[in-house]
Amino acid sequence: MTAQWQKQMQNQVNTLEKLSTYINVSDDEKEAIQSLDTKWGTTPYFASLMDKDDPTCPIRMQVIPSMQEKVNKFGMKDYLLFKENRKTEEVRPDSIARQYTDRIAFTVIQDCGIYCRHCFRKELVVDQDLQLRFDVEEGLTWIGEHDEIRDVLITGGDPLLLSDEKLKYLIDSLRAIPHVQMIRIGSRLPIVLPQRITEGLKKAIGGFHRVPVWINTQCNHPKEITPETEKAVYELMSCGVNVGNQAVLLKGINDDVPTFKELHQKLLRTRIRPYYVFYCEPAPGIDHFRTPVEKGAELIRDALRGHTTGLAQPMYVLATNIGKIPLMPDYYIDDKNDAEYTLKNYKGETTRIPNI
Ligand code: SF4
Repeated sequence: MTAQWQKQMQNQVNTLEKLSTYINVSDDEKEAIQSLDTKWGTTPYFASLMDKDDPTCPIRMQVIPSMQEKVNKFGMKDYLLFKENRKTEEVRPDSIARQYTDRIAFTVIQDCGIYCRHCFRKELVVDQDLQLRFDVEEGLTWIGEHDEIRDVLITGGDPLLLSDEKLKYLIDSLRAIPHVQMIRIGSRLPIVLPQRITEGLKKAIGGFHRVPVWINTQCNHPKEITPETEKAVYELMSCGVNVGNQAVLLKGINDDVPTFKELHQKLLRTRIRPYYVFYCEPAPGIDHFRTPVEKGAELIRDALRGHTTGLAQPMYVLATNIGKIPLMPDYYIDDKNDAEYTLKNYKGETTRIPNI
């Protein structure tokens, strides 16, 4: 029997005709769909969240191609090869990307539930200009031979699109490697296809075990959170899988104070821990989503820190080829001398503590 989530994938909204059953497609959207040579599409569920008449709807902007993707002033060609250190001396399978000593990203699939227009892996999963070979067995063997690897991030594409059986095999195989201490899965499905969180999936990845599984999803706007999302996240947590969020800072989507604040408050209400906000990386064809670098730190200062619950504070980072560089508001230390620090809070009030 075909499960509901599989039917959603079979009925992906990826043609102008199908999209027109959800929204009044604008002339610009039509032109981009008809003229750009790019993979695009979404689950019917996520399409149903689109505003029918507003092309600036945050769901539409993330899903529907735009002619602005042809403008490429700052994007770097072969960005992923540079970003994921795929050109280093170390011999690794294509499926293994490495920036740190004790953890790696393990790519197991190239397909996604939606093809985000702002994706930094666009050359691989959306435009498919970059050809890499993702062999799961080869990756598992490499991880087994490297006892310094204690943390494995399973990524894609979207790994939760694998069947329950394949996921179970993957998780069981990693859990059987003595030096693997934790497994993370990067997946947008709790947001764009919450129907994927089934009893079968819970059995495949959940349960009490020496090696816990964490899921980090990507939710960029409060509109993406629905009662279906809330239920899916609850189901994951009830089988021992923690859920965090890795948002991307996107111009015109979440780069204003009210939206940024509402997003982080709503994530917490949904039991999703805000983990990172990423600067929109210099991948090709996504200049139109990029803000100034400082914007994320300003938003944390103006929307979150002091303004709402401490748990709702993600770390703002620039993900680079040498790892993640945090960039946080810098207003805390107003002055410092041999005797004391002068500290400032979110309201601009100051206080002093001794300099030990
Ligand atoms: S789901 Fe993730 S990998 Fe897939 S297109 Fe979106 S951002 Fe890229």
